[in-house]
Amino acid sequence: MKLKTISLFILFLISNFSWSQNSTIETHKTNNGEIKIKPILHSSFVLTYNNKTVYVDPYGGANLYVGLKSPDIILITDTHGDHLDLATLDSLDTSKAIFIAPKAVKDQLKGTYFDKTEVLANGQGIHRLGFFIKAISMYNLPEEADSKHPKGRGNGYILTVDNKNIYISGDTEDIPEMRMLQNIDIAFICMNLPYTMDIKQAASAVLEFQPKIVYPFHYRGKDGFSDVKEFKNSVNSKNNTIDVRLLKWYPTN
Ligand code: ZN
Repeated sequence: MKLKTISLFILFLISNFSWSQNSTIETHKTNNGEIKIKPILHSSFVLTYNNKTVYVDPYGGANLYVGLKSPDIILITDTHGDHLDLATLDSLDTSKAIFIAPKAVKDQLKGTYFDKTEVLANGQGIHRLGFFIKAISMYNLPEEADSKHPKGRGNGYILTVDNKNIYISGDTEDIPEMRMLQNIDIAFICMNLPYTMDIKQAASAVLEFQPKIVYPFHYRGKDGFSDVKEFKNSVNSKNNTIDVRLLKWYPTN
């Protein structure tokens, strides 16, 4: 029994180590430089541009961020633990970071985190460190006060970097605010049940607002992973100019 526990622990260490070495980096050229994007886990990724580093929803523990530059900006979308992860924040060097978050997130922060958090409501935007950051609604349908994601609490974001517009959906369904987006170069789209939307809704929305590149993310649901390959097929069977890129967002998928 004891040996089994030890070997399971070693297996855990090995799998965590190899996962922390996930070497996927996506590069996107802009007019004046290069955006680099590294998927971290589920909802979290790290973006760098012009020597500035943005962490989106840092989550999953410090070892996933080993070797990466400390953040200049931290974007947080919502209050749930897969987006606002205090243990992970505590384990990172956030000393120079500006936090950008909805009010509901700031209300849960204390001390220096609270002091350095700038609140954006849905529809508001700010320029910081060469980025323009605009908050976009994210919510469940139908709109109900007790829904998992009521309208107005959380923020999706559009991050404008040089000439590229990057949409981060947050936890949402295929809301009109998503379907009406224009000129999106890169889109991170959630798809997991019962928390956000299914792959059909996600494909339908993507076909309507036609981002150039789509990364499905946040696709671990209550009953396992959404079928992101099927999502890609659904999109590309109707529009094969949308570049759907499947990255490794989880240790086991
Ligand atoms: Zn989530």
